[in-house]
Amino acid sequence: MTPFPLIHRYLAIALLCVAATAQAGSSISEVSDTACNTMRQQGVMQKDAPLSCAQLRIVHFSYLDFDGKLRNDGEIMVLAAVAEHVQAIFDTLLQRKFAIARARLMDHYRGDDVASMRDNNTSAFNDRRITNGKTPSLHAYGVAIDINPLQNPYIQFEADGKALYSPPGGSKYANRLAVRPGKAARPGMAEEVVDVFAEHGFLGWGGNWDAPIDYQHFQVNRALALRMISLPVPEARSVFHAYVERYRQCVLGGKEQNRASVQASCATSVERNGQ
Ligand SMILES: [Zn+2]
Repeated sequence: MTPFPLIHRYLAIALLCVAATAQAGSSISEVSDTACNTMRQQGVMQKDAPLSCAQLRIVHFSYLDFDGKLRNDGEIMVLAAVAEHVQAIFDTLLQRKFAIARARLMDHYRGDDVASMRDNNTSAFNDRRITNGKTPSLHAYGVAIDINPLQNPYIQFEADGKALYSPPGGSKYANRLAVRPGKAARPGMAEEVVDVFAEHGFLGWGGNWDAPIDYQHFQVNRALALRMISLPVPEARSVFHAYVERYRQCVLGGKEQNRASVQASCATSVERNGQ
């Protein structure tokens, strides 16, 4: 083989790589009337929903799947006020090569959280109550995000201490160590990205709870969510941005040695000191 064709081959490969990278990206779109109607038909948006479709946005993003393949079909619906920060979260997850199985809007599952979890789907807005309760879930405000439910199960405990995993396959991830001697590393676990979500205002992580434990779940607190849905979108966006900044400034000024301790104490103080 002469050197020229070889160079051409390298050039072609380089161009292909550039093209593949150029495709990766993210954007934000409004929810069209058609999409809003579909959500109503599919039970993702109820008649007594706490917010309107005009207060929601779809974040479109690229991600790496569990085979390391770049996929450009990620979609997640969130409150408009938090959309730029959610876009930045998924951009960062891609930069960090954090694996995501899939991310489809909840109308693909007719608003059925169990079906979405079984499909290992990453999702956010779904106008539903909290599990086993009547209070609207923070998913109904578009300020809670569930990632990779299989790797990050929801765990309830019965009176005798028996653990129930959702999805059931998630029991394989009861052990939360991603790297263990003699075993393959396990990608896609939420622990890896708690800091990314916190940096963008999602200070609550269900992995910090005692019972239930909800490893897949990241959220903005309820008082802030209620305040934001009562405001016009630009004002709600400013309120959220100021909140995110307070957390970031706190972490920058953190005096404790341990980064996790700084993040935990800043999350506590920012949440405590009003929204
Ligand atoms: Zn959740």
